[in-house]
Formats: sequence, C-alpha cells, structure tokens
Amino acid sequence: MRIKKILIANRGEIAVRIINACTEMAITSVAVYSDADRSSYHTERADEAYHIGESPASESYLCIKKIIDTALKSKCDAIHPGYGFLSENDRFAQEVKKAGLIFIGPPPESISAMGDKTAARKLMIEAGIPVVPGTVEPLSGKKDAHSAAREIGYPVLIKAVGGGGGKGMRKVEKASDLDEAFNRAVSEATSSFANPHVYIEKYLNSPRHIEFQILADHFGNVIHLGERECSIQRRHQKVIEEAPSSILTDRERESYGDLAVRTAKACGYKNAGTVEFLMDENRNFYFLEMNTRLQVEHPVTEEVTHIDIVNEQIRIAAGEKLRYKQDDITWKGSAIECRIYAEDPLNDFYPSIGTISDLKEPTGNGVRIDSGVKKFNEISVFYDPLIAKLICSAEDRKGAIEKSCRALDDYVLSGVTTNLSFCYYVLNHKSFRSGKFDTHFIDREFKPGLLNVFNGKEKAMSAAAAAHYKHKSLKTNRFVNSSAKQGNWKITGLMDAMS
Ligand code: ADP
Repeated sequence: MRIKKILIANRGEIAVRIINACTEMAITSVAVYSDADRSSYHTERADEAYHIGESPASESYLCIKKIIDTALKSKCDAIHPGYGFLSENDRFAQEVKKAGLIFIGPPPESISAMGDKTAARKLMIEAGIPVVPGTVEPLSGKKDAHSAAREIGYPVLIKAVGGGGGKGMRKVEKASDLDEAFNRAVSEATSSFANPHVYIEKYLNSPRHIEFQILADHFGNVIHLGERECSIQRRHQKVIEEAPSSILTDRERESYGDLAVRTAKACGYKNAGTVEFLMDENRNFYFLEMNTRLQVEHPVTEEVTHIDIVNEQIRIAAGEKLRYKQDDITWKGSAIECRIYAEDPLNDFYPSIGTISDLKEPTGNGVRIDSGVKKFNEISVFYDPLIAKLICSAEDRKGAIEKSCRALDDYVLSGVTTNLSFCYYVLNHKSFRSGKFDTHFIDREFKPGLLNVFNGKEKAMSAAAAAHYKHKSLKTNRFVNSSAKQGNWKITGLMDAMS
C-alpha cells in the first residue's frame, strides 16, 4: 500500500529530518507539539501541526492515546516514532497497529525481544553471536552478584536490564565495592526505567564502540549498510560518530556485518535497526545491544552509502521489497557527525537552557546540518539538549576532520552554552586524528581547563557571552595569532593535544 500521510511522534532535529523525507516522497507530514514547542522549528516545517499537551514529555510526546487519536483524526496512515520517546515502546507499536495504522519501525515482538537486555543476550547466545561475558538472567540479589562477579573476574559492570541512554551502569573494581554499587544500580534502574532488575558484564578496559546499520524488509531480505564508530562518548553517551571506522579492515566489516545481519534475523527484525558491538584490544567483537529504531547518528551512514535511511524505512513499512542486495552496497569517502548540544563542557557537560539569541549555521560543500532549531527558539529543561547535528563528509577521514573543524569554526550559536569548542578540541586531538582511541577517550584526555580560553575573563561575562567568545576565539587563535602564547588562550594543553 502507498503511505500518503505520516504523523511524526517526535520533536527537534529528528522530526525535521523525517518531515524532509516525507516532503521528498510527496507524503503529507503531520507534526505534534507540546506547550514548550508551540513555536518550534518542527511544527513550522510540517504540513500540519497539532497540539498534544503540556510541556513534560509524560503529558505530550509520551502519551500513546493522544498521539494515536491525533493520527486518526488527521487521517494519517502511518506513524514514525523517530528516536527516544516512544520509539522503543512495544506497547506503542502494538497500539498503533491495533488502531489500523502503520508503525514505521520493527514489529512489537522484535522491540520487546531486544528491550530486555538479559533476554536479548540469551537470544544472541542461542543464535551463536558472541556477547560480552556476563550473566544472562537478572541478578537475584547481592549474593548472586558476588558469585557472578567472582566467576567473570573484576572489574565488572552492573547494568540495568531495561537500560538505555548510558544510564544505570556501575563499574565495580573489587568485591568490597560491590554491595554499594549494586544498591545504587538497582535504585537508578528503578527510578530511570521503572524496572529494578540488573545484571553483570565483564568491564572491558579499552573497548571501541562499533555498530552496524541494518535494513530488513517483510520478505526475509536483510542487509547491512556498514559500520559507524561511536567511541567518542561522555557518560556512556555518544558525541562524535564516524563512518567508516578508522580501525576496521574490509574483512572485519564483512564478517561483523554478517554477524549483525544474523542478529537481526534472530529476532525477526523488519525495518531499519542498529546492532551495537564492543571491540576489545584483541579485536574480539561482542554483541552489546540492538537499537530497534532510527539512530541519532544515521546520517554518517547515509553520507558514505548515499542511501536515505528514512526513505527506506517508509518504503519497507509500506510493504515494498528492499531495493538493494548486499552486493549493491558500496562505501565512498568518510563522514563525521558532531552532535551539537546545549551543554557546558566546563561543568561536566551539564545541560544549558536559554533562548538562542544568534544563529548562523555553517554551509558549503560536504557540510550537512540536521537542525531542530531556529533563531529565538528556547532550549528548555523539558527535553534532551541536542540542538543540531553537524555532518561533514569528504574523500577521506583527514578531509572530513578538516571540514568539520572549518564548519565548527564558522558555526555561530549564542544564547546558550554549547559544546562547539569541545568538538573542535576532540577533532584536533592527536589520538583522535591518528585513530588510536577507545570509549574512555574523553574521561582520559579531556580536562575542562583545556577550554579555558579567556584567562578568567569568562567568569565575569554571562555564561552565554562566554560561550560565544570561547568559541569564536578559535578563529582568532588559528588565523590571527600565530603564537598561541601571545593570544588570549590558556591552551597549552590544547596545543599539545593538537600536535
Ligand atoms: P545503553 O543502552 O544505556 O546505551 P549500552 O549497553 O549500549 O548502554 O552501552 C553504552 C556504552 O557504555 C558503550 O558504548 C560503552 O562505552 C559502555 N559499555 C557498555 N558495556 C560495557 C562493558 N561491558 N565494558 C566497557 N564499557 C561498556
């Protein structure tokens, strides 16, 4: 069947991204919005927009009934959940189906199979997919935790069975720390995921996060679109992603891509999904989890494959056969995504709120901005502080890095503190440039002092002004002052990192 009208059950940059795909496919787009999003960019961009409730997500973007009622009233034939919110809620997928609408995502059974992390680990072991060593049942209590940790060997990681977004994980170095970590993990899991169950995995000391994009249709065809490397993380959350990975060989791509396809088949997957792996120092691959939705970082795959993943999602949901076979997929060049967050790298990446008082996004060949904001929009406390994504692509990795640095330097965004200068720092770090890094890169290499560009003057400025100047000073330093020491910068650390 042809899909003619889609409700997008989301907000911000991903809602705009999906609206764009709809427009290009001559599909009518319907936005929903909360009180806080009355004048937001995604409502303006959609063909129709409907108010669904108060600002807290629990009163709007997470209200299954309101969203489905709006889709029915506005005569949509499908709902795209984007990422976050209801995207991995199997009950939502079920209710959408029950209402006679198409859910643009996997079957509810695949969502639930992968949503419970211990059940997913069990399923993978049965399918012969290697998983990070650890338990396959939730821990029954501290005693159970102690015997599991002894068997696995310290350090271990306690993780929430219903976890996501990097929350609810506790590293434990030794047995005497286990009881307290267990209690904390259980209470965090209960408050964040309404599910107290936790399990234990071996803590990998120096892993790289490498994930594979999957496409699967309703005719049993499953392919992968290659990998994304997402090892640059703060608080176990990704900030900079790239495709291809700087470390994977062609043979590894083929064999781990095949593993990802087998993972998708094992849970009867349909539509676009992502299989996440951790790779250890010895290049062993371990299944970490499957994200049963569109990922934030999907654009880097689009840039190197020239396949529009949202377009394919809509076609698959409409019952079309996959248009590509595995052998049709080729990769060209390199792409890097910087997530532009309203957050303060000098204050443990704490979210920043306020009004965007000035905005000029970079442009140019190979520069793509997936943005969810316009000038004078509010960044509020209610939602994730992701403002936009900067995706730069070039013939090779070095070119993509240089382009990203230029674009970051051109980016003007004031009114809230951003991580623009932080992204610039990472992209210029010698470990990042050489491709020798792991998921602990930020914890190990980044000290807030490295971004202290104004010799204490920033303290006297408003946070917003400081953020703006902090960022713009990149330009001053790079193109005007030939010697960093003569400038305003306190950046010896940065210069070391850049060498
Ligand atoms: P979430 O679902 O909360 O995102 P994941 O299991 O996907 O959690 O892990 C997120 C990140 O946490 C990984 O990319 C990695 O950096 C870190 N991590 C997870 N498991 C391990 C592990 N066993 N050892 C070391 N780091 C891990």
